[in-house]
Amino acid sequence: MTAARTMPAAVITAPGRVEQRELPVPEPGPGQVRIRVHATGVCGTDLHLLHGHFGARFPLVPGHEISGTVDAAGPGVLNVREGDPVTLDPNLYCGQCHACQRGLFQHCEHHEALGVTLPGGFAAFTVCPASNVYPAHGLSLDQAAFAEPLGCVAWGMTRLRPRPGSTALVFGAGAIGLLLMQGLRASGCSRVVMVDPVQDRLDLARTLGAAHALTPHAELTDELRDLFPHGFDVTAEATGVPSVVQGLPALTAIGGHVLVFGVAPEDATVTVSPYELFVRDLTVLGSFALNQTVPLALEWLRSGQVNVGPLITHRLGLGGVEDALNMKARPGLAGAQKVLITPGLA
Ligand SMILES: [Zn+2]
Ligand SMILES: [Zn+2]
Repeated sequence: MTAARTMPAAVITAPGRVEQRELPVPEPGPGQVRIRVHATGVCGTDLHLLHGHFGARFPLVPGHEISGTVDAAGPGVLNVREGDPVTLDPNLYCGQCHACQRGLFQHCEHHEALGVTLPGGFAAFTVCPASNVYPAHGLSLDQAAFAEPLGCVAWGMTRLRPRPGSTALVFGAGAIGLLLMQGLRASGCSRVVMVDPVQDRLDLARTLGAAHALTPHAELTDELRDLFPHGFDVTAEATGVPSVVQGLPALTAIGGHVLVFGVAPEDATVTVSPYELFVRDLTVLGSFALNQTVPLALEWLRSGQVNVGPLITHRLGLGGVEDALNMKARPGLAGAQKVLITPGLA
């Protein structure tokens, strides 16, 4: 009798508890691909899952920002073959429900996702449908690991469609905020101003193309008014902090857009003046997850319009998942931007 092949994986076994375990290597069925994971980015979602939010069911192998190479392809796979470098869109949808039939696949009523409801990328291998796999030729596998978070930015830009030469203001220069800033520039915004309390992040924001990078302080509004007397065509936040969202309309130029991009607490509320929205022709936009926008994300990476190399601050093996989640819980403190889990590391 031969023992089943096993692989190492980081598993959330109960709320707040991550363990490294040996699991069977998954077999790709018809139309499915097995990926040998190169790197999986750690994201705020992983922290929510660790605490049992987002309907998490345990045991769960988290990790949804996955890149790797095709290890095996099941029958009927057409788009990739063994050895191809790839990245994944982790979201699976039914194609039949109200949302899917309107092309809003990320709102599928029967939504499943690798690393959220299905085994994800904090493991040596993962399996998913070929339709979720995108060839990543011309990119490093580190770059390819950003397809999902950058795909979220790409969906935001697809919603926003900034007018060429727009000015933009972004609160929050964490990994997502810095991707958002670059996505705004790649989408035609001429100058993007970033605000964040952490100096290292502001330095990085300038390096990556921010026109100004400012610390929040009591006179910030005056400082912004001095720089941009008419306000910004686009104001956005990648903080999830309700008070930041509340302050955006006042900083937005007439006819401008407010983009709510961060994940605020579910029960949080803010006060807005309907009169202000009305009299200044403002638009408030939400942007949730990604929707068929991995190709745009990959194109931004290939063209060099979005640079993700400087966002990678830590690279840990599967044993480092717990440490990585702890860094996520204290943003800015550990100097962490994007932490990549690389199963190949000891
Ligand atoms: Zn994510
Ligand atoms: Zn559906």
